[in-house]
Amino acid sequence: MTTHTFDIVVLGGGSGGYAAALRAAELGKSVALIEKDKVGGTCLHRGCIPTKALLHAAEVAEHVRDAASVGVSATFEGVDAAGVRTYRENIVAKKFKGLEGLIKARGITTVAGLGRLDADRSVRVGDDVYVGADVVLATGSYSRSLPGLEIGGRIITSEQALALDVIPERVLVLGGGVIGVEFASVWRSFGAEVTIIEALEHLVPNEDIALSKGLERAFRRRGIQYSLGTRFQTATQDDSSVTVTLEDGKTFTGDYLLVAVGRGPVTDDLGFEEAGVTLDRGFVTVNEELRTGVSGLWAVGDIVPGLQLAHRGFLQGIAVAERIAGLSPAPIPESQIPKITYCNPEVASVGVTEQAAVAEHGADAVVSYEYNLAGNGKSEIIGTTGLVKVVRLKDGPVVGVHLLGDRVGELITEGQLAVAWEAHPEDIAPLIHAHPTQSEALGEAFLALAGKPLHAL
Ligand SMILES: Cc1cc2nc3c(=O)[nH]c(=O)nc-3n(C[C@H](O)[C@H](O)[C@H](O)COP(=O)(O)OP(=O)(O)OC[C@H]3O[C@@H](n4cnc5c(N)ncnc54)[C@H](O)[C@@H]3O)c2cc1C
Repeated sequence: MTTHTFDIVVLGGGSGGYAAALRAAELGKSVALIEKDKVGGTCLHRGCIPTKALLHAAEVAEHVRDAASVGVSATFEGVDAAGVRTYRENIVAKKFKGLEGLIKARGITTVAGLGRLDADRSVRVGDDVYVGADVVLATGSYSRSLPGLEIGGRIITSEQALALDVIPERVLVLGGGVIGVEFASVWRSFGAEVTIIEALEHLVPNEDIALSKGLERAFRRRGIQYSLGTRFQTATQDDSSVTVTLEDGKTFTGDYLLVAVGRGPVTDDLGFEEAGVTLDRGFVTVNEELRTGVSGLWAVGDIVPGLQLAHRGFLQGIAVAERIAGLSPAPIPESQIPKITYCNPEVASVGVTEQAAVAEHGADAVVSYEYNLAGNGKSEIIGTTGLVKVVRLKDGPVVGVHLLGDRVGELITEGQLAVAWEAHPEDIAPLIHAHPTQSEALGEAFLALAGKPLHAL
């Protein structure tokens, strides 16, 4: 057995873990980063990056199909699954190489292997033990299923969906959250018949109801079918298809069933509880500084309850590294973290929904304004419908920004600044939005809430 000592040992090299390692190294700490697979984790290899590459290919397919509507002659001849795969894999490979280079350049020691937490801030990898003055747990998440629903064959998770070498003709998606609607959107653009099955009353049920309803309308226009408000009961499969039965007896059949019902924390059998870490339904309990109850043990990313997003992992990793180095970064509330669902049309939001603001402050204390993208020149040009909704407290700050439409994800940063800086619409209304841009729609909403609408009543 060999013991290696570092200032910081990071267990898991995904978004949360590698961000902690990079920032800690920048702050002069010696760092060991333990990873059993590939640095970059879910986001780079099985999540954000490959799915966004697929969504881009889907967008190109849609543009080619619609080319005649803007006077361009093009013929859509289909989607080459192998070609899409090569494009996607090349992007991931490039980003992976870049990340490996960065980690090396910062002098971080990467350790390949499965790590298990022991007592006294040590992590065992095979016969080696890595001891840190501080240890950051960042083991990430896995695709969950439902009781009685076994993954295998034609019943797949997002990992197998990404690796599919065929474009399915008919596909079922269980779960109308972010991952479910993104895959539904891709497959529809690639020509598949798609049905989403969601037990709650709406698609993207964590979003403001205006966005959920808007997305449902847009999906209906795109021919994406969905069943809302009835729970899944069973799924059966044979050599050529999968059939899902809902609790009301209704059945749906497809070539594949994508199970996209959420992600669970990777914390089983890794020694966390034995080392004194408290788990709640598998998630690591931390305080707002991301400290576990055990001195010198921290946790970041998807194993910490809350939004499972890569940029939240980055932010948490950076904050933990800075705290270990004696700095005092302010904790970031979850409500200030922007969320984007990259389906067609995109859904983006930050802050609270109107429904949550009313529940917290009362209906009389909340004012909202919706601007329809039909009034926005750039949206008309690129052929998207959708909306911008801004929620403020009466005579008070902006508390929520909610967007629906092609490309609106790129606008959410402005919403985040408004929410995080507790700006009043009156503060933002005088700031100029370039014309013609989709950002003008956000500007119009701020103008309207400040009592001086320009292109609206
Ligand atoms: C299909 C899909 C699409 C997504 N799209 C987006 C998106 O567009 N935007 C966004 O913000 N988020 C997206 N996400 C979520 C994002 O990928 C996660 O929030 C992010 O990867 C979490 O980072 P993490 O560091 O907590 O965990 P992970 O990225 O899961 O990394 C954990 C790492 O730890 C390693 N590990 C685990 N246990 C051990 C062990 N015992 N020893 C050694 N190594 C170990 C794993 O191999 C892994 O590399 C998506 C996720 C999926 C599945």
